[in-house]
Amino acid sequence: MPLVALRGVSKRFGNGTLAVRDVDLDLAAGEFVSLLGPSGCGKSTLLRMIAGLGAPSAGTIAWPGRDEKATGPGRDLGFVFQDPTLMPWANALANVMLPLTLQRLPRAEAEQRAAAMLALVGLKGFETSYPRELSGGMKMRVSIARALVMRPRILLMDEPFAALDEITRHRLNDDLLALWAQERFTAVFVTHSVFESVYLSQRIVVMAARPGRIIADLPVAAAYPRD
Ligand code: ADP
Ligand code: ADP
Repeated sequence: MPLVALRGVSKRFGNGTLAVRDVDLDLAAGEFVSLLGPSGCGKSTLLRMIAGLGAPSAGTIAWPGRDEKATGPGRDLGFVFQDPTLMPWANALANVMLPLTLQRLPRAEAEQRAAAMLALVGLKGFETSYPRELSGGMKMRVSIARALVMRPRILLMDEPFAALDEITRHRLNDDLLALWAQERFTAVFVTHSVFESVYLSQRIVVMAARPGRIIADLPVAAAYPRD
């Protein structure tokens, strides 16, 4: 049973743009999938619809495995945007605590979980640093920690490393993979980098533009097995 099942999903915006056309896609629990395609092919639009940010104009997005009573849409899902979008007036720990605070978790427990998540993304010792004191890569790590602190089953990432220099990006790729191997969330990674998609994913879903649609769905894990 897939975690998420899209059937005949299309999106036409109010201005007439058909951004996504007739997408069928199953995402299995625990897999690492890249959505690869040129700028403007509808990757973000598709990812946002999976996240519940913007309804499809046609088709359905189902979560077959989800216990509808126990969880709201936000809880099972973490979203990482290209821009880390941290609160500038709050330190790294407080930024990561935000989703827990919104769920009214006791402060001590929220602090402890946020600190553990910061350590997991390699930011032990930076709890009291403010976003302006952190590099672009570190801000992205905070953003990933914030998205994962609720322990979502699926992490949706929209070109998260696109603004970073290549070396930082490579380190983040490695650390994201290690995190995924350890935590086993389902990862959906939007990118226009062929390298990144092959390096990170078990599976690459290729999209083409005008209108945005899936043209290939490739298993890549077997091509470059990890030791
Ligand atoms: P919807 O029909 O889903 O409500 P709209 O066409 O009203 O979508 O646009 C929603 C938002 O996206 C608006 O704030 C608009 O300014 C912005 N927007 C419009 N065109 C584009 C575009 N080509 N790319 C990105 N954002 C856009
Ligand atoms: P990608 O993430 O692959 O770069 P997008 O999903 O952002 O592509 O955009 C797909 C297409 O939909 C583009 O032509 C874009 O201009 C258009 N688009 C995106 N958002 C909106 C919007 N809110 N309103 C109108 N058109 C949009």
